Amino acid sequence: MIDIAGNYDFQKIKDLFSVLGPPNKTLDLFRTILSSAEDNVNEWFDSEFLKAPLARLASELGAPPSQKMLAIGAIMMAMRHHPGMARPVGGTGALVTALLNLVHTLGGTILTDRAVEKILIDEGRAVGVRVKGGTEYRAKHGVISNIDAKRLFLNLMDDSDVDEADPDLRDRLERRIINNNETILKIDCALSEPLRFEHHNHQDRYLIGSVLIADSVKQVETAHSDPAIGKIPDSDPSMYVVMPTMLDPTMAPEGKHTLWIEFFAPYQVENSQGTGLHGTGWTDELKNKVADRVIDKLADYAPNVKNAIIARRVESPAELGERLGALKGNYYHIDMSLEQMMFFRPLPELASYKTPIEGLFLSGAGTHPGGSISGMPGRNCARAFLQNQNSLTSALKGARDSIQSTVQSVFETL
Ligand SMILES: Cc1cc2nc3c(=O)[nH]c(=O)nc-3n(C[C@H](O)[C@H](O)[C@H](O)COP(=O)(O)OP(=O)(O)OC[C@H]3O[C@@H](n4cnc5c(N)ncnc54)[C@H](O)[C@@H]3O)c2cc1C
Repeated sequence: MIDIAGNYDFQKIKDLFSVLGPPNKTLDLFRTILSSAEDNVNEWFDSEFLKAPLARLASELGAPPSQKMLAIGAIMMAMRHHPGMARPVGGTGALVTALLNLVHTLGGTILTDRAVEKILIDEGRAVGVRVKGGTEYRAKHGVISNIDAKRLFLNLMDDSDVDEADPDLRDRLERRIINNNETILKIDCALSEPLRFEHHNHQDRYLIGSVLIADSVKQVETAHSDPAIGKIPDSDPSMYVVMPTMLDPTMAPEGKHTLWIEFFAPYQVENSQGTGLHGTGWTDELKNKVADRVIDKLADYAPNVKNAIIARRVESPAELGERLGALKGNYYHIDMSLEQMMFFRPLPELASYKTPIEGLFLSGAGTHPGGSISGMPGRNCARAFLQNQNSLTSALKGARDSIQSTVQSVFETL
């Protein structure tokens, strides 16, 4: 808390406001944040041709564009211009490989092929993990978890260990964390040639970025509100399309291309409880039927897509959840709604990357600042972890410095 207070001293808050402008401008920004992405897009644009894909982009946060307090999705579009988006050569996996190399260089070992089944607790302290098959790994300094808080505390720990540390935690995780049932059906394709958007003044360079198929703001609204009630919005699919090989030809044989399509879909399909994979209603037949509809729609825009597909792999929301180890297929671990962001993420008592269990730390998309490939939850958690290793003396020194800087800034302000 002292460290957080140190980071947000009066001078820094004053500096922030001075960048934003005079009080009315600042208040207006807060007003915008409380509004919806749709409100925001309507305020600035008139043409549906522009508004629909922008609404779709804003809704990448995983909620309909009309949802109040999620205008931040639209505000984030500014970040796509500055600092912009980047992709490592070789694909996202290349970033992971670079991080692996770093850990190896520093003498670390990474094991990825064994699932943790239990966090080992000894006298209230996390002392290691047990993986599938029974092998135990003991921790010298502590255990850092990168999965969502619900799975961590409700599935990987004894209830009594959690209750002893915080008697309310299990109940709060169970009832207070929000998951709106929206996730992704993913289609990966190998292509013999690039897509051609013949009705839209096609130029290959358009394929370097992400392509958003969104005809109207209403269509985008349905694409995100249907999954919440278990409906599959495939009667008129909206989608996000990326052909990574246009920017990075190293990812496919010469002249060939890869394509992935993100289609928002429910994890639990309505009226299908208990059937399909994990009782979600998703079967091979259903996922392929939905994928056919999505590709039909894409063909309205890029008529050569069907002939260009050499092979495809469709991953249903249930399969995606299984592959990622994500609860209900939520690749953001928990929803990215405002009441679950910043110091509320995932719950106030877990928001500092530390947990009520000594030596157990929480990181990943389910912690601040949330999902996406930013590296920030990991960086912040590493800081909290390292700080915890510090001796009492340096902890006290850190606290003293923070208090001094806060007090100093208060007096300078007055
Ligand atoms: C189709 C799709 C497209 C996306 N596109 C983008 C994009 O363009 N840009 C972007 O920034 N973000 C994108 N995202 C979101 C982004 O991928 C995630 O938010 C991000 O990967 C979360 O990272 P993480 O490390 O916190 O968690 P995860 O990536 O979920 O990693 C958690 C890890 O824990 C492992 N695990 C789970 N349970 C256990 C267990 N019991 N024992 C051991 N290991 C376990 C999992 O196998 C996994 O490797 C996309 C997501 C999807 C699904």
